[in-house]
Amino acid sequence: MNALQSTSSIREWIVGIRRDFHQHPELAYGEQRTSAKIQELLSELGIPFEAGAAGGTGVVGLIGDPTGPCVALRADMDALPIVEASGASFTSVNRGVMHACGHDTHMAMLLGAARVLKENESSLSGCVKLVFQPAEEGGAGAQKMCEEGVLENPKVERMFGMHVWPLLDTGLIGLREGAFLASATFFDIFVRGVGGHAAMPNLVVDPIVAAAQIVTNLQSIVSRERDPFGSDVVSISAFNGGDTYNVIPPEVHLKGTVRSLSLEAQAANIKRIEEIATAIGTAHRCEVTVNFPGVTYPPTVNDHGALKLARSAAKQVVGADALVVVPPTMGGEDFSFYAQLVPSAFAALGIGNAEKGTTLSLHHPQFQVDEDALPIGAALHVAFALEALAELARA
Ligand SMILES: [Zn+2]
Ligand SMILES: [Zn+2]
Repeated sequence: MNALQSTSSIREWIVGIRRDFHQHPELAYGEQRTSAKIQELLSELGIPFEAGAAGGTGVVGLIGDPTGPCVALRADMDALPIVEASGASFTSVNRGVMHACGHDTHMAMLLGAARVLKENESSLSGCVKLVFQPAEEGGAGAQKMCEEGVLENPKVERMFGMHVWPLLDTGLIGLREGAFLASATFFDIFVRGVGGHAAMPNLVVDPIVAAAQIVTNLQSIVSRERDPFGSDVVSISAFNGGDTYNVIPPEVHLKGTVRSLSLEAQAANIKRIEEIATAIGTAHRCEVTVNFPGVTYPPTVNDHGALKLARSAAKQVVGADALVVVPPTMGGEDFSFYAQLVPSAFAALGIGNAEKGTTLSLHHPQFQVDEDALPIGAALHVAFALEALAELARA
């Protein structure tokens, strides 16, 4: 079987599904319509599945012989709270919600791969688990899927995922040894003082000056405490307090994110944010509370063996010349939860085409995808599965 020929022959089907998802985006853990659509398509293809995973919208399909080795392929389902400005004819009908991270394409490509794999089911030397998970964007849907046992019964031995990548031209596939995406944690810092008249600073405890010092001092974590050859980021992304000229507010609320390519460095960064914010706030007579809402995403680390399989699969689909070693990114990805438990590889699928305007970054309100990449991504999923099952059969 030629995977790319097979997926190219169903290109319109894949594109149609993608556009339908794109037009009806849903936020993390609210992917009801999306989930129903996936279930409907799997039913049409005659693929058995279990629905209701990870808060209700996750779907797991199975193709092949469940008594043989098992390889899992993953797609994420959620969109973002962004007002779409792409101008596409299939623009979001849910104003304020947009598939700006390409998860619509991830689902459509996995369904394309499912159709091809199902047509070739009798030749599979094992089984392929199709993992459609909710809430990649900050909700750690993958962690819930793992806790609910998505990697068991049958036991998954290799796992693969991909993300559309506007930095790479369409036709290229990016892979990377080791850490590819960062560990990511959000934080809130509440700085409480005593408000009052801005003309009488002696009668207030000013949280604005204290918060400003906290922002400045947090910069020393990466510059003075981390290995200069490592990769860490501490960003303050919101600084809110006060409304007017002559009033010192009682409280300032900072928000930010901390990232690292190593879990140890990330743990150290988190600890130091708490210590520095509290100590600096206290020095300025303020009370400080530091919260870390949500879940820390681990770094996404490609397994050496799984990456070798991914490389060989990608070579079959696009040829050796179209394989690129991509630099790591400080973006986070909850595929990391699977990769912590199963030898896994995560690939970057080129969708960049300047003429078509598909080089804008992920999460941009005008984000667009070069749909020529969809049969390539679907074929890559097929090839991942076939390569990994062949190796597991040999083992
Ligand atoms: Zn995203
Ligand atoms: Zn994404």
